[in-house]
Amino acid sequence: MRTVDQFNFKNKRAIIRVDFNVPIENNKVADTSRIKAAKQTIDKVCKDGGSCILVSHLGRPIGFQKEFSMTNIINEVENVLERNVFLSKDVIGPDAKKKSLHLKPTQVLLLENVRFHDEEKKGDIDFAKELSLLADCYINDAFGTAHRAHASTTTITTFFNDKFFGKCLEQEVNSIKKVLNSGKKPILAILGGAKISSKIPILKNIIKIADHIIVGGGMSFTFIKAMGGQIGLSIHEDSMLETAKEILEKAKKYNVKIHLPIDVVCSKKFDNESEQRVFDITKIDNDFQGMDAGPKSLDLFEKVVMDSNTILWNGPLGVFEFSNFSNGTKMLGYFISKSTKGGAFSLVGGGDSVAAVKKFKIENKMSYVSTGGGAMLECLEGKNLPGINALL
Ligand code: AMP
Repeated sequence: MRTVDQFNFKNKRAIIRVDFNVPIENNKVADTSRIKAAKQTIDKVCKDGGSCILVSHLGRPIGFQKEFSMTNIINEVENVLERNVFLSKDVIGPDAKKKSLHLKPTQVLLLENVRFHDEEKKGDIDFAKELSLLADCYINDAFGTAHRAHASTTTITTFFNDKFFGKCLEQEVNSIKKVLNSGKKPILAILGGAKISSKIPILKNIIKIADHIIVGGGMSFTFIKAMGGQIGLSIHEDSMLETAKEILEKAKKYNVKIHLPIDVVCSKKFDNESEQRVFDITKIDNDFQGMDAGPKSLDLFEKVVMDSNTILWNGPLGVFEFSNFSNGTKMLGYFISKSTKGGAFSLVGGGDSVAAVKKFKIENKMSYVSTGGGAMLECLEGKNLPGINALL
């Protein structure tokens, strides 16, 4: 792995693929984490006396659309990076060419949204070449798009001898390796969320690595039903019943202990204010649905989390968006932070668990919180990501 720390960027113009695909609410950047994640790489290049040409996508535009223009985020980018940032009106057009050519050492330029060109998603070679001509060397620091074989993440690398892992990408890759390749045992994977079908490839891969797997949240009901339990109106996938049974069998073969919830906080309707009752997870009344982990489940999960040295968390234990059903996810975050304080390595990855640790303000108590949703899931499935392969 060739990282930015192994190179002196003095007088070099580095094109840096960053992930500034940030959420915008009421014309404001609602979460700046992804911009913050790129700061260390930009600082390193500038400290060496190099200049940076930042390239990113924002949203899913079809051609040029004003609401996806980088003009919407440039002020926040300057605030977070704590430096002046120039903005070009285009990506490979005359303005980008002129501004990148005139960049002086330590200056930073942000190009317009790379997805205004549909060549980006196609991985178009001519577009990638034009983009590469703006710079002397290439850095990828956008883990969030590393699973896409796009022009600015993958094709462009063929035009550079000097291509590097940015610091954020390096940390992401190292954190995943720390769990999947060299995790200190016992290794625990916690998988939650709504749908078992979307997590099957992860379960199949993780089962070969983990010592313990907690299956929580909506996913657990398919397993409970497959084992003959009564799950009332709880979310489940009948088409996955056989797969759930196969996974339970496979776990035995690999000597992995799967922990399912014991009890569950249920409600009559999918509503925060609906009547609540705790049921044994195998005996839920017909007119109730499971919404959150119950107290006995949390006691069990706490013990497993505290006994683990490596913890991977993907997916909430309940409908954490509803305040009355967020306790299980919040408590799980607390157990992981306690275990991390005691020396365990914890990695939180995948959209909703990351949203949960942010909501409960325990982000800093985890060893690493991933910046990538889909990219992280693909890594956990054991896939090689094109954006990473292209740098090797
Ligand atoms: P996923 O994208 O598959 O990780 O699912 C995340 C979503 O799962 C969150 O929006 C949660 O509200 C939802 N979820 C977790 N537990 C349950 C449950 N018991 N019933 C319905 N939805 C759930």
